[in-house]
Order: sequence, then structure tokens, then C-alpha cells
Amino acid sequence: FGLLQSQDPEIAQVLLDELDRERDGLQLIASENFTSPAVLAALGSTLTNKYAEGYPGRRYYGGCEVVDRAEQLAIERARRLFGAEHANVQPHSGATANLAAYAALLQPGDTMLAMALPHGGHLTHGSKVNFSGRWFDVVSYGVRRDSELIDYDEVRDLALRHQPKLIVCGATAYPRLIDYGAFRGIADEVGAWLLADVAHPIGLMAGGAIPSAVPYADVVTFTTHKALRGPRGGAILCTGELARKIDRAVFPFIQGGPLMHVVAAKAVAFAEALRPEFAGYTRRVVANAQTLTDALAAEGMRPVSGGTDTHLALIDLRDVGVSGAEAERRCAEAGITLNRNVIPYDPEPAAVTSGIRVGTPCVTTQGMGPQELKEVGTLLTLAVRHPGSAAEVRERVSALLAIHRPYLSEY
Ligand code: PLP
Repeated sequence: FGLLQSQDPEIAQVLLDELDRERDGLQLIASENFTSPAVLAALGSTLTNKYAEGYPGRRYYGGCEVVDRAEQLAIERARRLFGAEHANVQPHSGATANLAAYAALLQPGDTMLAMALPHGGHLTHGSKVNFSGRWFDVVSYGVRRDSELIDYDEVRDLALRHQPKLIVCGATAYPRLIDYGAFRGIADEVGAWLLADVAHPIGLMAGGAIPSAVPYADVVTFTTHKALRGPRGGAILCTGELARKIDRAVFPFIQGGPLMHVVAAKAVAFAEALRPEFAGYTRRVVANAQTLTDALAAEGMRPVSGGTDTHLALIDLRDVGVSGAEAERRCAEAGITLNRNVIPYDPEPAAVTSGIRVGTPCVTTQGMGPQELKEVGTLLTLAVRHPGSAAEVRERVSALLAIHRPYLSEY
């Protein structure tokens, strides 16, 4: 770091400022986490120098014998962690993992059935502003208005009516468990492939805190940087039958050279998730999310679907009389980072929204437990309801973080 500071003080300052931002605020974005120093070390390594198009033992460049070992370890660890027949660890992100999965299973113009974005689905699940919505004939399912849970009857009806070639389950803002067995049944009934995009809950599945989608889906796509606590990136698991199709879809169809430093960092994260203590971490992530959700509900902040089974909650702020965008702004002023989020059947546009999304992977990595999460609930409520108390909230956030600072000793 000293070298960077002398060579490029401007970027060195960006790194320091971001470290301070991450350490000095309460990080409640459900899709973020603090990677370990070991993951950061792999990311900041000379493996970034190496071109390695192809797969271990089958590269299109010389000199790949060392990086081959990193990718082989990442593949083996991913397969062991998730009990998968095949793993591809090269996707640069969750979005490219989905692009590759679609490329392996569909032709442009084919029909796919996936969760609607305003109900918790991801952009890559068929939004018109994304390649998925432009290149495929997308039919969307949602959640019921009364329960705010996935309507499996609607999914089945739509599948029978539209005969999709692919059904996608998984979401970006759905706090409850998804019944992958039910999706498998529907996919089998109509002869569709089943893709589980578990970018969000994969970490919880790795630690056993929630049931895994892997036994049910033909293809599983995920990101490595959320509750899983790895580097920013994507990965794909699939059956042995689809292994070749998936590998060829990732390279050479949608990507060129893999990011070998990121692949090595994924291997480090998978090894960390294989340790017994990771299971405890994932159970605490869920328990903390439930404590936070209960604390918010007690303050009149309504959790969509009545609560959470996972690492995240979606809070409907209509009764509070504050928009999601305004709540995000008020929280930022009070030292709390979170994101506004549309809620199902939201009357507000995406730039405003009626809700916020909160998640507990970061605060759990910081070692917070039930007592701290109750305080987080109180602080969040104060920040949203009483913007005048921002300074007080900031002070109480600092007090919490004084004993729960990430990267305290390593940097
Ligand atoms: N799929 C789901 C369900 C997600 O939640 C996300 C990101 O939040 C992605 C895909 C895309 O991941 P990335 O941002 O790495 O492209």
C-alpha cells in the first residue's frame, strides 16, 4: 500500500476513504459483505496478469500450469461445498452467469418463465431494459397480493399455458424460502429446464442455514460476493449432463479470458465456507435478520410477507409516510447504508419506491448479535421517522461500531 501511496496518491486516497466508509457506517445492504483478508490477498495478486482462455488442462495460452491449480481447486471446492456434479467458476458476475446459462439452454426467441422485477426478480430475469427481456419471450410470475408469497398456482398455470423452455426461480428481494421442489415439479410437468438463480441465498445454502436448490435445479447460478463472503463474481453449478454446454456457453460464447485472481479468491472463499464455523455464521445471519425485522415491525415498519426466513427483509414504509428514496437518504445522513426497493404492487416508480431492503450479512461478519440488532432496529427507525435525530443516530452507530469494526487489525 505504501508503494501505491507514493505512485498514485489519488487512488490510494480512494482506497483509504472507502475503507473508512465501510468501517464508519452501518452496512445493511443485503447483497454486500466484508470478504476476509485472505480473499483480498488473492484478489490483489499477480494472477491478474495471466491470460488463461479455456479450462484447466485445455488452455489456449502457454504458461497456465500454475493458474490451472487455482481453478481446479475452486472447481473441486465448489462441487464439495454444494454437492454439485459440475461447477464453472469463470463467470465475471451474476449477470454473466445468467447470460451463459440462458445461452446454454435457449435460442433467441424461446419462451422463459421468471419472476417479475417489481415482485423481487432480477433484471436478468426478463426485464425489457436487459438482454434477457430483449432476446427472449418472457412470461413473468409474481407474488400474491394478500400473502406477498410466490403464487405457485399462478406459476403452474402460466407454465401450462405458455410451455416455457426454461423456468427461472430465485430473486433479488424475496425474504422467504423458495420451494424449489414445487418449481421442479412444475418444470417436469411441462418439460422445461429449471434454473435456480440463488445469487442472494447461496451463502446461506453453503452453511446449511436454509435448504439448498442444488438437488432440484438443472442449473444453479450465483454470485460469490453476497452472504457467501467471497470476491465479486459469479459461478454456475449444473448436472454432469449439462457440463459441456455450460462450459462452452461461458467460454468461448460469452467470455474471453477468465479473471484468474478472482478465480483464486473464489477458491479461498469456498474453502472458508467449507469450515464448520461458516455454518454458525449463516445461522446467525438469519437469526439477526429475524431480530432486526421483529424490531422494525414493533416500531410500525411493516415487513413484506410478515417477516423473513433469510438474510434480508423488505420493509413497506407506506404507513410511515416516507418514500423508500427519502428513507435511504435519511439513513445515509445518519450513518446507515441501505437501499430503497420496490415492494410488490408498489404504487411508486423504481426511483422513488415505497420500501427499503435491509440485510444482515455485513453486521453478522462484524460479530453483531441479537442485542446489537435490536439497537440497529431502533436506530433505523429513528433515522427514518425523525430526520432531526441524524446526529444522535450517527453517534450511536459509532458506539456500536467501536467494538464491531471490520478490518480492524489487518490494515
Ligand atoms: N441474480 C440475482 C438474483 C441477483 O440478486 C443479482 C445481483 O444482485 C444478480 C443476478 C447479478 O449479479 P451481478 O451484480 O454480480 O451481475
